[in-house]
Amino acid sequence: MKRKRVVVLGATGSIGESALKVAHDIPDRMEIVGLAANSNAAKLAAQANRVRPKAVCLVDESKLGELRGALEYQPRIFSGENGLIEIACLDEAEMVLVAVVGTGGLRPALAAIEAGKDLAVASKEILVMAGEIVMKAARGKGVQVLPVDSEHNAIFQCLDSQRQRRTPNAERPTPNEDRDVRRLILTASGGPFRNTPNEQFESITMEQALRHPTWNMGPKITIDSATLFNKGLEMIEAHWLFGVEMKRVEVVIHPQSIVHSMVEFADGSVLAQLSHSDMCFPIQYAVTWPERVPNSLPPLDFGKLSKLEFATPRYDDFPALNLARRAGEVGGTLPAVLNASNEIAVAAFLAKQISFPRIWQTVEEVMDRHSPVAQPTLDAILRADQWARAEAAETLRR
Ligand code: NDP
Ligand code: MG
Repeated sequence: MKRKRVVVLGATGSIGESALKVAHDIPDRMEIVGLAANSNAAKLAAQANRVRPKAVCLVDESKLGELRGALEYQPRIFSGENGLIEIACLDEAEMVLVAVVGTGGLRPALAAIEAGKDLAVASKEILVMAGEIVMKAARGKGVQVLPVDSEHNAIFQCLDSQRQRRTPNAERPTPNEDRDVRRLILTASGGPFRNTPNEQFESITMEQALRHPTWNMGPKITIDSATLFNKGLEMIEAHWLFGVEMKRVEVVIHPQSIVHSMVEFADGSVLAQLSHSDMCFPIQYAVTWPERVPNSLPPLDFGKLSKLEFATPRYDDFPALNLARRAGEVGGTLPAVLNASNEIAVAAFLAKQISFPRIWQTVEEVMDRHSPVAQPTLDAILRADQWARAEAAETLRR
């Protein structure tokens, strides 16, 4: 059995930490050869001193002195946005785990594909923004795009086990072509405000929104889980990853976060994937795929699971889902606009500048003002992203 040599982009974040745990847990199967972060020099150095990757990268060049001072050995050091691209193309690496919050991982991901690396993608934002481009580039190069997002990893597992076929993404028929798949059903915890009456939404505080009932994640995705934009982004992510039309991607509320998603087949049978809500499960599957290996993660104790509940989302109270469906159906540059305006609005909410409902109001206003470009090039997507950020900031100033 071979160890997979992995570069982790976004190492100091929540997913990055889980990836380090997985590498520690299955040392015969995973070796971390590169670690990259934005500006947290102290944490990156501590991780590197522990794991001893061949290379590290810090995007924020002003913190390089701090990084060098804290390192106890001499790895190759990259820096700046270009450094992130260079470490993603590291000769020693076979796989790049993209776990940078937001869209900063897009260019490094495309460069890694070009260099022949497989991708494990946690950063759903890059698939929402440029899913068609990423998947096309991966097919062209014959490399894998393995989903780390728990729902997509679950769907990937259900599709895999159904077919008993170990062919890579690139050669496998997409569920669209493969008429045996009827629906992809994404589960959503519903976030902390699943049962909150909408009259109370105006007074929701940042602290309340950061208290997620089932998952422990970075701040941006935690707010996205509270507005349900996270699930909206995931609908578009699923559309691109699995080549399924938006109308066949559905959402169901499942507060326990034990069933991570489901696939309904043509005969009406539904397969689901279950585990505790710990991102180590999907990260490990992405790394060891197509094999499964033992680990030290806790198994489910069905005697202790009191219940698994399912419900229809409150579409009228949480407009994010319909906005995302619209963006995914229109396609072109509109998903990038939804994603970018959401990032700006979430940052403003985290800075306590706007109310909770202002997040989706801002996204809707910016989407309404956008004239989508069909079949956009990467440049057109990046322009739409920049336009939406400026437009959202302007909307929030007014
Ligand atoms: P965190 O906020 O915990 O961590 C973000 C990481 O990205 C940090 O390492 C940060 O470095 C780094 N980073 C931020 N900006 C840049 C940049 N411009 N260039 C390079 N690195 C950067 O986020 P999460 O780990 O929660 O999420 C990461 C991604 O994974 C997101 O896209 C999220 O949607 C997705 N995801 C997360 C899940 C989770 O359970 N957390 C579940 C499913 C998907 P620094 O520390 O130096 O700032
Ligand atoms: Mg998810």
